[in-house]
Amino acid sequence: MVENPQGLKTIDGSTWLIEDEAENMKIQYRVDDVLYSEKSPFQHVMVVNSPVFGRMLVLDGIVQTTSLDGHIYNEMITHVPLSIHPNPKRVLIIGGGDCGAAREVAKYSEIEEIDMVEIDELVVKACQEYLPAVSGNLSDPRVNFIFDDGLKHVSKYKDHYDVIIVDSSDPIGPAVQLFEKSFYANIKEALKEDGIMVCQSQSPVFHLNILQQTYGYLHELFPISRVYTAVVPTYPGGMWSFTLGSKKYQEVNAHSFDKETKYVSQDLLQQCFALPAFLKDALSK
Ligand code: SAM
Repeated sequence: MVENPQGLKTIDGSTWLIEDEAENMKIQYRVDDVLYSEKSPFQHVMVVNSPVFGRMLVLDGIVQTTSLDGHIYNEMITHVPLSIHPNPKRVLIIGGGDCGAAREVAKYSEIEEIDMVEIDELVVKACQEYLPAVSGNLSDPRVNFIFDDGLKHVSKYKDHYDVIIVDSSDPIGPAVQLFEKSFYANIKEALKEDGIMVCQSQSPVFHLNILQQTYGYLHELFPISRVYTAVVPTYPGGMWSFTLGSKKYQEVNAHSFDKETKYVSQDLLQQCFALPAFLKDALSK
């Protein structure tokens, strides 16, 4: 067995990506080819081909998105807040280097500016070249790429954005501070008086503590806070959570949803805040 720093191992002549989930859990993916592998100042960036998931973006050995199901996550993190806000003009995406969230936001013709603040330019370059199934042919002039720390960017703005989408990696490395209360407080300031934010809040099964903490912070900061989930087979356990904080609006305008999507539908939007009993219970504590 041969091991390298990106989590790749050769076992009986085949290459496997072994992702460390927790002390007692590892997920193992068979890899056919490594298409891209570079170290940036922030993390190790890799795109691999796998027989089950297709192309996969892997940062520091952790799978971020895949051509099989990247659209599920990206559609859910974008279309839910954008179906609640009645008139979004300025949208900020923090993270989102695979460009899948920006691709979904660009489906709204009424949006005038899409700022995407990604700390690592290499992620965007790798995904635009090797992961077109997720990034799409994103050449929309409204998308303004800013390569900076999302934390720094958001603290410069007051009363500016209609919708802020925090599409971060797991709370390790450069993303740790994107899960802190002070960051969400700065987001609240950067939003207009009727603005909405949403963030990915990890697995409700394996990282329930992170979801509870995130929901707790947004519940304290915003008059309206809601949690919703989606099934993303790539992520550990399949079930993934998103937490939304809104200053004014909470109704989803599902009937007017007319975007071309593969996962989000009018029916799904209508029921997106329906939660399983265990989660309702966990969030009421
Ligand atoms: N959908 C994916 C998931 O949930 O795992 C992740 C989406 S995207 C690949 C996450 C991006 O957040 C990465 O490209 C990473 O470089 C970026 N990121 C991490 N910390 C950041 C920060 N402080 N500011 C801006 N971008 C950051």
